[in-house]
Amino acid sequence: MIRFLVIGLLFYIGYRILASLGSAKKPLSSQSGSRDHGVDTYRDPVCGVYVTEETAIIGRLDGQRHYFCSMNCLEKYREQLDHSSPSNPEE
Ligand SMILES: [Zn+2]
Repeated sequence: MIRFLVIGLLFYIGYRILASLGSAKKPLSSQSGSRDHGVDTYRDPVCGVYVTEETAIIGRLDGQRHYFCSMNCLEKYREQLDHSSPSNPEE
């Protein structure tokens, strides 16, 4: 009877060892893949070119941030704002 228990214990220990080996073998490199930097792009409202925050000329106009491909576009946009906004005649 004791022999049966010992054999059972050996089986149990063997099972535990196998189980721990199996879990240790699991590859940890499952978190590779989505390496998207998520670079935000902004559209130049003047010429329609898409720019990133790194390359853009950022102008604060009309209380908002606007992204331009160049100073030319920024100036143009600023002019448009000046033209379109109803300027107060009495200043
Ligand atoms: Zn532009």
